[in-house]
Amino acid sequence: MSVERKQDVIRLTASDKPLPDIHLSGLPQFEPGWVWLVGAGPGDPGLLTLHAVNALQQADCVVYDALVSEDILKLMKPDAERLYAGKRGGKPSWKQSDITDTLISLAKEGKRVLRLKGGDPFVFGRGGEEAQALVEQNIAIRIIPGISAGIGGLAYAGIPVTHRDVNHAVTFITGHLAGDSAAEKMDWAAISRGSPVIVIYMAMRKLPAISRLLREAGRRDNEPVAIVTHATTPRQKVLITTLGSAVNDVEAHGMEPPSIIVIGEVVYLQAILSWYQPS
Ligand code: SAH
Repeated sequence: MSVERKQDVIRLTASDKPLPDIHLSGLPQFEPGWVWLVGAGPGDPGLLTLHAVNALQQADCVVYDALVSEDILKLMKPDAERLYAGKRGGKPSWKQSDITDTLISLAKEGKRVLRLKGGDPFVFGRGGEEAQALVEQNIAIRIIPGISAGIGGLAYAGIPVTHRDVNHAVTFITGHLAGDSAAEKMDWAAISRGSPVIVIYMAMRKLPAISRLLREAGRRDNEPVAIVTHATTPRQKVLITTLGSAVNDVEAHGMEPPSIIVIGEVVYLQAILSWYQPS
């Protein structure tokens, strides 16, 4: 997809097919010295918001994370500067303080700074911390929400996070701390009782601990589980398993991060609603 911006008209072109012009009024001007924290969605560039495209078209520099795809970065102005703030080749990622310091100094140089994060910037993405640091320095910010992997990524697997016949509540957790001594602080009994559907981000490395802790807390061995890898991208893979078999199946099928894990009976709908055929 490519994008051309003329005043308040954005012309989107999907491969060889021109799409109708979208007349946008009221999309904001990106002022120098501002930082916009923008959600890029889970991967498919079509899931960007118009605000995100508008931001990419005006930014002087884009500080982006590992989960932001090349197709999305292609929407930047050609002369804009790119700064990669994620992990590369096993090297440690930038420290959080390096990222905030960079955002602050670029803004103070009078740049239009776009901080581009996977999914939604305020969902398990440390966007809140970055925004706080900027506000403390009196830097003007705008927050542009994005589609979070735990909702949009599952939709691309044909799994609704809520369904009237299954759940009236859903819990989003990060698996990051599971199984560490610190994780004894996470109340797995409450998580297990809290809602019929549990969506877990950053869970792959901790899957053995998570599946054990949830079963010890009362969730069933044969409860359905879906693992969705590289959701919404051509590399999307969906594995349907159970809480008891998840660890073995993940290994057997070579499922890797980034993956979203969902536990609960909404997973059964995947058999009927699966619609996305990665090319
Ligand atoms: N802010 C992001 C989440 C950041 S945490 C959001 O709202 O989506 C990073 C975790 O998000 C990954 O470890 C993985 O669990 C999940 N994730 C992000 N993009 C994903 C994708 N395309 N497919 C599957 N999981 C994804």
